[in-house]
Amino acid sequence: MVGAAHGFTQVVEKDGLRAMAGLKLSGVELHIGFDDVDSPRGGCTTDLASEIAINWSKRGVKFIDYPNLVRLNPAIPWKTRGNGALSLRVLAESYELAKEMCSEVISIAESYVAEFAHPKRSPHVACFIGRVPGELEAMGERAVKDVVLIDEALSIVEKYLPKIITWSNSSSKRGLIGALAAVGNKLTKDHTYELIAYRSRDYWGAPRLIDPVSVFKMDEETRGMTFLNVDREANRVLIAPHGPDPILFGIRGEEPGALIKALNVIETGEPIAKWIIFRTNQATDEHLRRVKNLCEAYAYTGVIALGKISRSPRTIAGGHVILAIADECGEIDVAAYEPTGSFRSIVKELRPGDVVEVYGVVRPPSSTHGRTINLEKIRIIKLSEAVKYLNPVCPKCGRRMTSSGRGKGFKCAHCGYKDPAASKIAVVEKRSVAEGWHQPPPRAFKHLMKPLERFGREKNSWSGVMIEKWHS
Ligand SMILES: [Zn+2]
Repeated sequence: MVGAAHGFTQVVEKDGLRAMAGLKLSGVELHIGFDDVDSPRGGCTTDLASEIAINWSKRGVKFIDYPNLVRLNPAIPWKTRGNGALSLRVLAESYELAKEMCSEVISIAESYVAEFAHPKRSPHVACFIGRVPGELEAMGERAVKDVVLIDEALSIVEKYLPKIITWSNSSSKRGLIGALAAVGNKLTKDHTYELIAYRSRDYWGAPRLIDPVSVFKMDEETRGMTFLNVDREANRVLIAPHGPDPILFGIRGEEPGALIKALNVIETGEPIAKWIIFRTNQATDEHLRRVKNLCEAYAYTGVIALGKISRSPRTIAGGHVILAIADECGEIDVAAYEPTGSFRSIVKELRPGDVVEVYGVVRPPSSTHGRTINLEKIRIIKLSEAVKYLNPVCPKCGRRMTSSGRGKGFKCAHCGYKDPAASKIAVVEKRSVAEGWHQPPPRAFKHLMKPLERFGREKNSWSGVMIEKWHS
């Protein structure tokens, strides 16, 4: 991207096709972040953002990106539902117009939230006029991996006034972090897409009418280009949420074109009010950071950590499996929770000495457990050789002999054969788990978790080119 700043005016050549055609788009970038503009009573942040996006797009507003759906650090207990923040990125003709567009969004958000008011929410909108500064980009990326404090968010707002305009009707500033993070995190590295289809208002709250057979068919036909549509182990459709929100279903995939193909395969018994494609950090593992040692596995962060099994897996009440790994620096508990289903049977096979790389978010210690990594994926790097010592086999009849007493060798209870010189024999235990990657079934996946099917499909940049029909 080439951009020359003249005051607030920039020339943007982000749109590759237009740039090739020699057309330059001039204007002022306007980035609008939303967080927590929803409530358990209905309505959601993506619904509001998509409403504005579709409306503006119809009015001819130039979008410089798909609406972004940025999933924030899932290890933070005070997160909002799903912990997703949204941003819209457009080009305004002038600084004044950008300000007006921001005001328009704020008044729409205000009435949306008024309709769905809820005391536990902290709805926020944050507009940034102009090119997003590096400091805000860094904060947006950190909000996915780490803890960003409200004071940091407030100091960024103060520093960039009047280019930053914020709005909230809540005394809590929590949502400000998400709204700013959505502006700052430009999904410049690995990213995926989600096509979200919405229900018409008459259907909100009623059971969703989606033909499951068509979803399995879609999954087959778009294999490799979409993911986490269904769970074959549980024979379950995963694209539809439960609960009263206005989303009918969401299809996640690698490219916008594949999502539209998938959309056309799905059959529903209710109308689709609208659909829109988001660009997102879902299924990218962006929340995980490789740590040098276990001492760096801080609570409220996501980690990739190497260690040796130091305590055998045990199943606790509720069906959760707990083990521990250690390195030269310390020891940490690792938990595979009940909802991870068959994944637990793999974890249960691990033995002390096995070398593993664990992926997950770190919970702080409590009175009942130590610092714990909630396991999202595991890579078994080296299985230890577990040796069992067995009694020798009788050379005469082939049965296993019994000890004649300490230092007195073994005897055969069946045929009476005795061997005072015999001793136990070492047998390497056959392991029923394989080295390599293991992951939970699709139904146990959370938004940011990258499925193994995506390995090798990671993107390291975004072309800036949007398909023509990204909503309807
Ligand atoms: Zn014998």
